[in-house]
Amino acid sequence: MASSSIDELSKNPLYKDITPHQWPIIYSSNYNIGFLYMEKLHPFDSSKWGSIINFLQQAKMITNDTIVTPNEATTNDLLLVHTKHYLSSLKWSIQVARVLEVPLVAMLPNFIVQWRILKPLRYQTGGTVLAGKLALERGWSINIGGGFHHCSSDSGGGFCAYADITLLIINLFTYYSNQIKKVLIIDLDAHQGNGYERDFMNDDRVYIMDMYNRQIYPHDHQAKNAIRCKIELENYTNDKIYLRLLHINLEKCLNEFQPNFIVYNAGTDILQGDPLGNLDITPEGIIIRDEIVFSKCIRERNIPIVMCTSGGYQRTNARIIADSILNLFKKKLISC
Ligand SMILES: [Zn+2]
Repeated sequence: MASSSIDELSKNPLYKDITPHQWPIIYSSNYNIGFLYMEKLHPFDSSKWGSIINFLQQAKMITNDTIVTPNEATTNDLLLVHTKHYLSSLKWSIQVARVLEVPLVAMLPNFIVQWRILKPLRYQTGGTVLAGKLALERGWSINIGGGFHHCSSDSGGGFCAYADITLLIINLFTYYSNQIKKVLIIDLDAHQGNGYERDFMNDDRVYIMDMYNRQIYPHDHQAKNAIRCKIELENYTNDKIYLRLLHINLEKCLNEFQPNFIVYNAGTDILQGDPLGNLDITPEGIIIRDEIVFSKCIRERNIPIVMCTSGGYQRTNARIIADSILNLFKKKLISC
């Protein structure tokens, strides 16, 4: 247990306690977005999160009783990071349509947008914040959703409506101030994580390693100034080049910064065939990638780590993410 007082922790409504038989794997059926023909409007498997859990259950790794369900992040929780102005702007469907990049959302009444889209994203955000506490208690934790790395305190975009990574880290600095002073973000989603980069610009407590395809969205040159270890990839980068760059750079960042805590944004839109990521990483490459990260952070250095699943919404992604988590389990990199 962390050194912060129980009184202090009890003030955070997102920090639930879990029982010893529960895995620090966080998921709620409320994560899943589903309405109208959303999937036809966006290259998007909206049941990805539930499918990952189904695969883990079929493999008998977890049951409904052994996973952790998060609370929904409330306006109060979100205000720790977000501006009132930004949160108010989400009351307009046209603004949500811009954030999600689905123009037809602008035509929907806002109560439907809140209920079917933003509420699931607020549950996922609550999950990411909770993952911080559980990783400190158990050494690791996986939020089956979250990883909204394009959203900052005052601006959303790229399907990211809430800045869950910033919230996770600011909550740690607030509630575990004696223990957590240096956080490393390892962002291996195909896209640049410009949201939290804007939030942590010039903040020496946070070291950002970001490996992304430089030829795709968001091309945020100003936010790039926040990246301490920038690895820019070309279109169709393959496993061999990708995994070598990861190995060398992650080792360098861990040795240079010596973090107390790690946030791993494990987007799978690096997968070959992804219409948004434009890289050429195989399913096996993704499994090896996750194993490299957990080996270096947990096995070699024993640093608590949170993993979020972030981008990657092809039909095959859920199976690959589940296989990767099962591989971490098989290799004894994670356990209950
Ligand atoms: Zn992405």
